[in-house]
Amino acid sequence: MPLLYHWVGKNYRRDLDWGAGYHLNQSNPLLHEIDLGGSLWAFTRTPAGTYVLAMELVVRAKTKNPPGYRYGAYRLWGDLELSRYFRTDGQPDISELIRRLSVKAAAPVLGRSFQGHAAVRRLTPADHQALVEYARHLLLEPRARLLPEEELEARILLGDPDAVTRLITAEAPGIADDRRRYLFEQAPRRNPQHVKELRQLYGGMCQLCGWSPKSLYRRDLCEAHHVHWLSRGGHDALHNMVLICPNHHRAIHRTDAPFDWADGSFVFPRNRETVQISRHLLQAQ
Ligand SMILES: [Zn+2]
Ligand SMILES: [Zn+2]
Repeated sequence: MPLLYHWVGKNYRRDLDWGAGYHLNQSNPLLHEIDLGGSLWAFTRTPAGTYVLAMELVVRAKTKNPPGYRYGAYRLWGDLELSRYFRTDGQPDISELIRRLSVKAAAPVLGRSFQGHAAVRRLTPADHQALVEYARHLLLEPRARLLPEEELEARILLGDPDAVTRLITAEAPGIADDRRRYLFEQAPRRNPQHVKELRQLYGGMCQLCGWSPKSLYRRDLCEAHHVHWLSRGGHDALHNMVLICPNHHRAIHRTDAPFDWADGSFVFPRNRETVQISRHLLQAQ
């Protein structure tokens, strides 16, 4: 069952400014009724007041947020290959099309029909087809390009601001200037200290499998991972980091495994792996 989603304009713009997140939150449990591989169509309102199609999120994982999370309990993660952010500049107004769908949207200002729980609605297969047709001629949003997380994280953790600057400039991902400064000025300064703290806290062990290179080889081989990826808006803070072995770290990056707050696990394509050793608090963003 496809879904329609009203993405609040300021949240949509923040998503692009911080590094396209390819995920959406809502308080309505309907969000989790979508099938894996199904499409969620998100529309938003530009500062000029035009309603435009912002994204087709092709769902690859569903997770829950911690209790009290401000954007709602439910989260969807998009497939990075199949999901599309559409260019909103110069896009014609989509209000008429949305009013023709099976969703009820009678309020004179379109957004008023999509407030609170009503921000997410079921679509019929015919609605979905109409949106596929509509999107056929839309341009893609160039700012939604992703920075390579593995490289970015490694360079930030090494505390190498010059390398981070080069990477961000070379990739030209279109993130906002203050986010760029955050990534290449603040993060490389702070992160090496966070890694040290994590290694002390866990005696160098992998929080997922308990592998303990420190006792086996007298070397710190476990690595810090940002639960909410830096390239997708994550904070360089201890409450967003876990200490894991290189194998788990590669597996998480290569499969784009999100973290589920419902059971404290990483969601891999075929299974979940729960954080076994937890001595510091993680926070959702
Ligand atoms: Zn491990
Ligand atoms: Zn990582």
